[in-house]
Amino acid sequence: MCSFPDSNQQKSGQLTQLSNDTNDFLKEESIKDVSNLLEINKAGICVCLATIEDIDIQYNWYYDACKRCNNGLVKEGDVTRCRKENHVVKSTIPRFKIKFIVSDKTADASFLMFDKEVSKLVRKTAKEILDLQGKDAIETTFPEESKFFLGKRYLFRVKVPNNNAVDENSTYTVVSTTETNGWDCI
Ligand SMILES: [Zn+2]
Repeated sequence: MCSFPDSNQQKSGQLTQLSNDTNDFLKEESIKDVSNLLEINKAGICVCLATIEDIDIQYNWYYDACKRCNNGLVKEGDVTRCRKENHVVKSTIPRFKIKFIVSDKTADASFLMFDKEVSKLVRKTAKEILDLQGKDAIETTFPEESKFFLGKRYLFRVKVPNNNAVDENSTYTVVSTTETNGWDCI
């Protein structure tokens, strides 16, 4: 069970702001346990309160994207095309894509977080981090910044995929994230 501060009763400016975020988050959905998330049998949106336990390092932490639409790229010989729009891409931009293992007291799950959310939370772009790593770094090495996420707890709004209930390895794409200061779970 979770309790949330009522934004009308908050006096502290910071808490009020966080509560408003939280209220926005909860406008449409109630918070589900991770074990409930795993069992949802239709596609949609779900909100979970969970802690980031680990980063799945089988997957790289960024991908090279089309600057126009942020979709991935397809290489055909010397030509690189946007996967979505199929136009030829001359210059690309690195974008975050990190797969996290998250948990609450009921279960754990894989959450996939993309550029908008990761860069908002680490306050850096993937390009800035790559530039900081320098030319000698192996590109697949997870940056120090990724440690920022370990042990952090957020309210996650995630997409529930179509085959969720039958697929034991569902990955949930994070639509938005809100920090959870100012209120707690019991
Ligand atoms: Zn594109």
